[in-house]
Amino acid sequence: MKATKLGSHIRNEFPLFANNKKIEDGQIKPFSYLDSAVSAQKHISVIKAMSHHLEYDYGSVHRGAYGVSVRSSQMYENTRTIVANFIGKSVKPEQIVYTRGTTESLNILANGIAEEYLQENSRIVIPVAEHHANLIPWQQVALRKNCELAYIPFEGKIGKELRLNLSEAKKLITKNTKVVSLAHVGNVIGQINPIEEVIALAKSVGALVVLDCAQSMTCIEEDVFALGADAIAFSPHKIYGPSGIGVLAMSKELIERLPPYTFGGGMISDVTLEGSSWTQGPAKFEAGTPPITEVAGLGAAIEWISQVGKIHIHDHAAALAAEFLSKVQEIPDIEVFAPGTGQETIVSFRHKKIHAHDLATILDAENIAMRAGHHCAWPFIRFLGVDALIRCSFAAYSDKDDIELALAAIKKASKIT
Ligand code: PLP
Repeated sequence: MKATKLGSHIRNEFPLFANNKKIEDGQIKPFSYLDSAVSAQKHISVIKAMSHHLEYDYGSVHRGAYGVSVRSSQMYENTRTIVANFIGKSVKPEQIVYTRGTTESLNILANGIAEEYLQENSRIVIPVAEHHANLIPWQQVALRKNCELAYIPFEGKIGKELRLNLSEAKKLITKNTKVVSLAHVGNVIGQINPIEEVIALAKSVGALVVLDCAQSMTCIEEDVFALGADAIAFSPHKIYGPSGIGVLAMSKELIERLPPYTFGGGMISDVTLEGSSWTQGPAKFEAGTPPITEVAGLGAAIEWISQVGKIHIHDHAAALAAEFLSKVQEIPDIEVFAPGTGQETIVSFRHKKIHAHDLATILDAENIAMRAGHHCAWPFIRFLGVDALIRCSFAAYSDKDDIELALAAIKKASKIT
């Protein structure tokens, strides 16, 4: 198969770019969107699938015998197969739950696992670098159940080569560890965590493994369920699809055993004034009217990614990140926080004389979008010894022009200090 050209070759397939050029003093400033790690821009096929669904097929799912409801329900259920195939061969459509996002998926898991698997003094293990979405839910259940929450530290140089400390992980994942939850790819420095090794450690003590795949769904090649993961969570909005929807894929055991997280219509088997019982399968976790048009958008996003090739997209973004990393660290006063293996698609850095928020505002004046702040990972930001970082992240539509524009803008900003 001939590889699709990415970067500027496909930018016209993402309408937002054409609509966000800036014209200043007669000069066109293209929109450099270097914040896809927070949320990716939407491919035209996603926009079309969603608007087609709204224009022709919209109806509530599993609630009507009439045409639009039946068509919406079929699309909603068929998309579970698309999602399952995207995750890997060893997961089936009936293991796919639609949620509101990675955050909600992880809350469902933490609360359900707490109910079913954790006792007083059970141990939960997570890395120190986790996004708050994979940290606070575990802190909360640890408090509620009186469990121990142990954090796997990082090792290596802060600037470069920082990685999860596997020998510490080995010591921390003890016999009373009931769950290990970690990001496949970190959202602060973009490190690819050694999930195979961590899964093996967890399985050796019989612990459950939860993977936060919010940052990795366009780079995962492994069938994570075949590796031994018990649950994964991701957000379609980070893979060129819509916001307002999340995916939670669980092992058959978890989907059967975990209790519902929210209660209401669509998830019951019977309700009486004395009490209620729940249906089985994904619907148990999908109380209320779910995101419907968003499911149509998710299906389209996956189809587009599958046509182009996950790994092709990842390699394109990683090559750009490696080039940006090598060039940005040459700029005086820039300190990078990047593993630098050439596989990351994120480069975080700071300017020693310009606060990250100020630098992000200066970049915005040049029509360049990068995120600055704590990246929803306060403990890790503190561990890195900073109060904020600026993060540059690359995606399918990113190109070398973005790198040059960003470098020029950072150099220009340096001159005003
Ligand atoms: N986990 C990681 C690693 C993330 O990067 C994010 C979002 O930035 C989340 C969880 C939370 O995702 P969402 O806000 O879509 O629920």
